Amino acid sequence: PRYPWRGLMVDPARHFIPVKDLEKFVNLMAYYKFNKLHLHLTDNQGWRLPVPGYPKLKSVASRRAESFGDGIPHEGMYTKQELKGLVEYCAKRGIEVIPEIDMPGHNQALHAAYPEFFCFPKPDINVRTTAGNSRELVCPQKPEVWEFYAAVFKELKDIFPSGTVHLGGDEAPTELWGKCPLCREARTKAGMKDEQEQMRAFFAKTTALLAKNGQKPQFWYEGNAGIYHPGETVYAWRQNQACQSIEKARKAKLDLIMASNEYCYLDFPQIQGQHNWGWMKTTTLQKCYELDPAFGKPENEAGHIRGVHAPIWAERLPDLDHLLYRAYPRACAIAEAGWSPMNARSWENFRRKLADHRQFILKRFNYDMERTRENEPAFPWKNKK
Ligand SMILES: [Zn+2]
Repeated sequence: PRYPWRGLMVDPARHFIPVKDLEKFVNLMAYYKFNKLHLHLTDNQGWRLPVPGYPKLKSVASRRAESFGDGIPHEGMYTKQELKGLVEYCAKRGIEVIPEIDMPGHNQALHAAYPEFFCFPKPDINVRTTAGNSRELVCPQKPEVWEFYAAVFKELKDIFPSGTVHLGGDEAPTELWGKCPLCREARTKAGMKDEQEQMRAFFAKTTALLAKNGQKPQFWYEGNAGIYHPGETVYAWRQNQACQSIEKARKAKLDLIMASNEYCYLDFPQIQGQHNWGWMKTTTLQKCYELDPAFGKPENEAGHIRGVHAPIWAERLPDLDHLLYRAYPRACAIAEAGWSPMNARSWENFRRKLADHRQFILKRFNYDMERTRENEPAFPWKNKK
């Protein structure tokens, strides 16, 4: 393959995906020679990893009252045994499972369970029921936060042998760190000039905690290479920033995985008429296929690119059928971008091959695309009720 890293990300935090469904998803991944399954296990809308000593993750953080006003409660929590089983299932198919614990933001579900971890605890906050982010970050100055993450990482080590842990790090507005008395005092004491320096220190501490278990972090790249540390791996994801991210990451001695959203976000609509929730850009199969993960850069400027990765965010994808409906056939294009050098690729050839793959995918999964298309959830989720 052109790249050693060829991944897909699923988002059970937004809509829980039972392990049986993940196994079906993995079968198709393996067929297309993806080798990394990234599990986005935590977010504002749900927490799916059980951690010993923290029972409210299950009783509070894994449940929400409804989704987009549909009035239907949603919940889900994996067991340790299920996740170990999934890891084994994937390993047999040449796939490594990468867990993600998003921090310091994207943590409204955690806040609902353990408000004391946050700069300004809100005991009345609930697990988020709509899309979008919340402003609250965990407070790095509270010892109980570090006890918690130590317990989380230990549990991840028991379950996921790979040792790679995605720490999120994206969309973390620091304004509350700016106002928090504990954070302010800590910045003054350490001579930090701003909250970005505090973010760098936060990730350094988190990385040190991981290192105790022999684990290594990955991050969503936020454009400021200064908050990461040489040797770390970041994912380029922000729209139209792929090229400059490749350059900035190289200069900061970071490894990079290409997940630029205008090519790689497979929850975006792929044909006209699919719901775009008012903001997602239609990303056609051809557009996906046009991705060159190195953006035409020569080896000496792109040698730090480890591969390609397609996230399938699931705020609006309630089940496996909807997940597959959005992911394929575009995932086939991403797979080829990861596998084949540019001079071996052609859109015409890919299109020709795809007709057979369409039949294969539909048959293999006994999957009714017409029904799924008709049942695509409408905003705000009206036909789900
Ligand atoms: Zn604080």
